[in-house]
Parts: sequence; structure tokens; C-alpha cells
Amino acid sequence: MAGPLSMAALQQAYSAPFARALRSRVSMATAALTSLPGVTAQPLKPDTRFLLGMSESELRHLALDFGQQSYRGKQLHDLLYKTRAKEIQDFSHLPQAFREELRQAGWRVGRSPIHRAVAAADGTIKILIRLEDNRLIETVGIPVEDDKGSFRLTACVSSQVGCPLRCSFCATGKGGYSRNVRRHEIVEQVMAIEELFQHRVTNVVFMGMGEPMLNLKSVLDAHRCLNKDLNIGQRMMTISTVGVPNTIKMLASHKLQSTLAVSLHAPNQNLRQQIIPSAKSYPLDVLMHDCKEYFLETGRRVSFEYTLLAGVNDGVDDAVQLAELLHYYCGGSHVNLIPFNPINGSDYRRPYKKTVLAFAATLESMKITVSVRQTRGLDASAACGQLRNDFQKSPFLEVPAAESQLSPL
Ligand code: SF4
Repeated sequence: MAGPLSMAALQQAYSAPFARALRSRVSMATAALTSLPGVTAQPLKPDTRFLLGMSESELRHLALDFGQQSYRGKQLHDLLYKTRAKEIQDFSHLPQAFREELRQAGWRVGRSPIHRAVAAADGTIKILIRLEDNRLIETVGIPVEDDKGSFRLTACVSSQVGCPLRCSFCATGKGGYSRNVRRHEIVEQVMAIEELFQHRVTNVVFMGMGEPMLNLKSVLDAHRCLNKDLNIGQRMMTISTVGVPNTIKMLASHKLQSTLAVSLHAPNQNLRQQIIPSAKSYPLDVLMHDCKEYFLETGRRVSFEYTLLAGVNDGVDDAVQLAELLHYYCGGSHVNLIPFNPINGSDYRRPYKKTVLAFAATLESMKITVSVRQTRGLDASAACGQLRNDFQKSPFLEVPAAESQLSPL
């Protein structure tokens, strides 16, 4: 990885039209990132409680529990989600005694510092958030401006610190697993991206580090908060999974309007379990049956992710098999093709563009709708989990203060 980047160099790095417009905002926001103190891993404090992620109704009840009037709960809600106070001591609208009582009882807001931010020439910014126990999670902000000038800002959030599933192509899987991310730690990722870009997040994808279905309660709690408290539409959110037995049915029972994206990466069980070791315990036909049931239960079509690995799963015959599979179980579907992003320590290669186009054309010829994910910030550290691995090989590794600076991707 290249060394830390000065503000002037950061400004030079932005070349896309939209990125230029963002320059000054991002520069201002990242200027504060260069002086974090050294950190040492800590155990989580079990008795700490976090306000972030709570609904207005929960906050009103909390205020009543502290002998306050219910409207103090509404004030708490505004302080968390509108004013965005980061510490209880910043709750200047609240009586000093109430603030003190909250602190004494172990309550905290639940906001964490940004440990590192890296910026790509296309405007994508990846951040490492340093959690309460000094573990690091990755979050990515992806700005997109379409031809008509409308702007989307997508936050790609992590649901676990690392991941236990160890998919063979994934940097996060290679970096080990530490723990689930808690509700407030998901919400704060979105808020951090909004504050960095000085723009509201329009879309959220649970496609960062970790398998969301292994942390479904926190994911659903955070989803509620993002929808109701930060006003991000359910349809603007996507929950991604590589497949965990019995969880798709559980998710269906919540009848969310969000998209479920299932990562297939192979058109048959044999190849799939070579690429995704956890697929051995969740056969492809059972997974596809669950996707079909999900649609019947929610009325929402499942979309499918497919990472193209050169010479492994990117042949025209693979595309034919994939289309047949999707027609059989789902009556057609949408497939998002993701040309592999090279990662350290992997023998997989990125397919040539003509191979990607041939794969996409084969699916389309068989009436499957296809999109090819544009690779953002490919320069370095762009694959999921790769930046975190550069800084924290072990989930408990000590992180030196000198690394708390802004670098280019
Ligand atoms: S691809 Fe997703 S599920 Fe697989 S190891 Fe990576 S983070 Fe985990």
C-alpha cells in the first residue's frame, strides 16, 4: 500500500466529475483523521449500554425509567439522529443531572472513531472504524452520479468483525473472525459515511465484512433504525447472504421490502462447495428452494450475486447451467455479475472483459436479467476485507498510532 496521503494529493487523486464536486467536503471531513492516539485491544465491557439504534418509543421509556418526562426521550432521539451528538456530555438540551445519571448507569451514545480512510480516484472511500474493543471493521461509501445528474450514495456495511465462513475468494474470510457487530455499530457505519460525504446515504447494502444471516438479530434491529430513524427506504436496502441453513425462512417472516441478494458463485453444488466451504452443509437445491419460498412469502424476488473467477466458473457452459437453475426454481431472476477483485494470497484471477461479456450475453439470451458490477476503487485494498487485513492480521493485534492516517486506495 502507498504511504499516507496529504490533503493536496488527495485532491489530485479525485478525477471523476462527481468526485471533484465532493473534494472539498471529503477533505474537510478527513482532515480530522490524522491524529488518533495509539490503541490496544480491549475486551468488551458487558455492562455498557448504547443509545444509538434505539427507537423513539424505547428512548421515551428510558427517560421515564430515569424519572424524566416522556418528551425527554424525543429529545434524546433528536440528539442521536438529527444533532448527531457523539457523547452524552454533548446532550446540552438535557439537564446535567439526567446526563450524569445516564453515564453512571453505563449508557453511552455508541459512536466510534474512524481509524483510517482510503480514497479511490473514482470517489469511493473505504474507512476502518475502530470499535470500543479496538477491533476494526470496514465500511465503504460509494458515490454514483447518473447521466441525469441524480446522485446516489451507497454505504456498504459490515455485519461481523471478520467472517467465519472462509469463502475461498474473499479477503475477509482469510482474515479470521472475531465477533458479531452490534446494532449500534451497524448504524454508526452509515452515519460515518454520511458525515464523511456530508450527504445523506440513499442506499445501504449489507455486503461488507461478515455474513449478515449469522448476526440476523442485530442486522434486523439496525435495519429498523436505518429505515425509521435515519429515513432510508426499505427498498433502498439489500441484505446479502452466502446461505446459512434455516435463516432465509426466518428473514421472510419479517416481510421486509428490502432486497435479499444470495451469493451463488457457482451453478452446481460440486463447484459451489469448492468455492464456498460452508455450502457443504447447505446443498444448492435446498438453498434455491428456500429462495423460491422467500418469493412466495414476501412477493420480493431474490437477486443473485455471482463472482466470476477466471477459468473456474466463468465459462459459457456455466452460464447456461446457471440460467437453467434460476428458471427451474425462480422462473428467471436478476443476476449481478462481479468480476473478481484480486486479493493478496489468492490464486484466483480476474476474468477478461470478453469472458465477462460472453457470460452476461449467454444469461440474457436465456431471459435472465443481468448487471455487471462496476469495480470501484480497484487500485488496492478494494476487495472486501482487504484493508482491514492490512491493518489487523489478527482481530486482537495492537494498532500503532502512526497508522492512523489517510492513504490512497
Ligand atoms: S464472501 Fe461473505 S460470507 Fe464469504 S467469507 Fe467473505 S464475508 Fe464471509
